Amino acid sequence: MDADPQPVTPTFRHLPVCFGCGAENPLALGVTNAATTGGAESRVRFGADHQGAPGLVHGGLLAVLLDEAMGSVSHPVSGIRLTTEMKIRYRRPTPIEIDLVCRAHVATRSEGQFSVVATIAADDDPELVLVEGEATFVLARAKARPLEASD
Ligand SMILES: [Zn+2]
Repeated sequence: MDADPQPVTPTFRHLPVCFGCGAENPLALGVTNAATTGGAESRVRFGADHQGAPGLVHGGLLAVLLDEAMGSVSHPVSGIRLTTEMKIRYRRPTPIEIDLVCRAHVATRSEGQFSVVATIAADDDPELVLVEGEATFVLARAKARPLEASD
């Protein structure tokens, strides 16, 4: 794979049923995704229903936030991208009821896959990294469809 930091726009759009950002999913977390130079940025504010330890965001939901941002980076080949590997380092406890921003940047990119690194921080203290992650995605050219109730 070749390193390719140049930005590709627009932001990849997730399916409307996405658990992280889907407008048609009543259980979605309300994550918003946007393109940045060379990557993507996701934002969310977790509340009391999202606690693991008292007052702290559940670590699995922070993995969702990482996956949202890392999976939103653009790639010249369109198609569904699937996370094949993710590594997470929880560097500090992440409180609920603060605005979080996850910034993801493409590390490597090739025709069929890409790898991304990302950090989560409070929106008002972006230099203090709470969580960091890296992941690899593969591009599936087949068009995904939501599962029907009868599936
Ligand atoms: Zn999503």
